[in-house]
Amino acid sequence: MIDWRNGSDLDRVAEQRTDPEWVLAAWANPDAVLLRVGDASVETGVDGALLTRRVEADFDPELHYLLGRIEGRPWFATRVDAEEELTALRSLMDGLPAAGLEAAFTAVGLATWHAVSGFCPRCGAPTRAVHGGQSRRCTACGLELYPRTDPAVIVAIVDPENRLLLGRQPSWAPGRYSVFAGFVEMGESLEQTVHREMAEEVGLELTGVTYLGSQPWPFPRSLMVGFLAHTTRDEPVPAVGEIELARWFTHEQLVAAMAAGDVVLPPHTSIARRMIESWLDGNLAQPTAG
Ligand SMILES: [Zn+2]
Repeated sequence: MIDWRNGSDLDRVAEQRTDPEWVLAAWANPDAVLLRVGDASVETGVDGALLTRRVEADFDPELHYLLGRIEGRPWFATRVDAEEELTALRSLMDGLPAAGLEAAFTAVGLATWHAVSGFCPRCGAPTRAVHGGQSRRCTACGLELYPRTDPAVIVAIVDPENRLLLGRQPSWAPGRYSVFAGFVEMGESLEQTVHREMAEEVGLELTGVTYLGSQPWPFPRSLMVGFLAHTTRDEPVPAVGEIELARWFTHEQLVAAMAAGDVVLPPHTSIARRMIESWLDGNLAQPTAG
């Protein structure tokens, strides 16, 4: 399982990728591989592992995006529209090795960004991919565009009895429960977002906010930033239409509900799951959730 707190196994070749000749040479490397991706999906083989194809076509900077190197081998990604040939990345998350998962997250996020960034937001002229697909440049005014990541907070709220607040959104599969999350707004700190979002979503006032860790979440382009927050033992007031249910769990109640199939937690690789499991293990106050 990947631990997002450690250094990356994906060498993003930040210096080299600005050199078009270096990118071409990486493409021509006989060990180079190409990962085909779609919207939140990747190509897999019959064994369920990522299917990395040999690089055969001519390099096209508009189609082929350099992810970096894994164990010296150049990895590229390309976007395909044939979703029926791909597998949902969420369903693969728990089974992929760390480097493969990071490459897949990077590939999906990057390819999705290219698909919606063909025109300059300042002057409207076409843009062109540069730096191996790590940025785009306007053909008219020269504006440089970089892939955006949208920060979001994800919050484990505990009460004075160390009960954990879990809830459901109406669109989730039956039984799915998780901690609460929300996007950062312009001009807001992460901690301010925690206070605002939790007031909005569950009507609780927080008495302490502690950073736990972070994780990319390319659905389509988020960075999840995890926090522990304390509150009083007040009952939550779920936001109408947004939160279907919010309730306190003791350790025993959550373990029993999971065993009975009444509660299904998020995937193991998600920061939400790791935060909940850290709470179950009594370690949530430690920075172990990343
Ligand atoms: Zn422009």
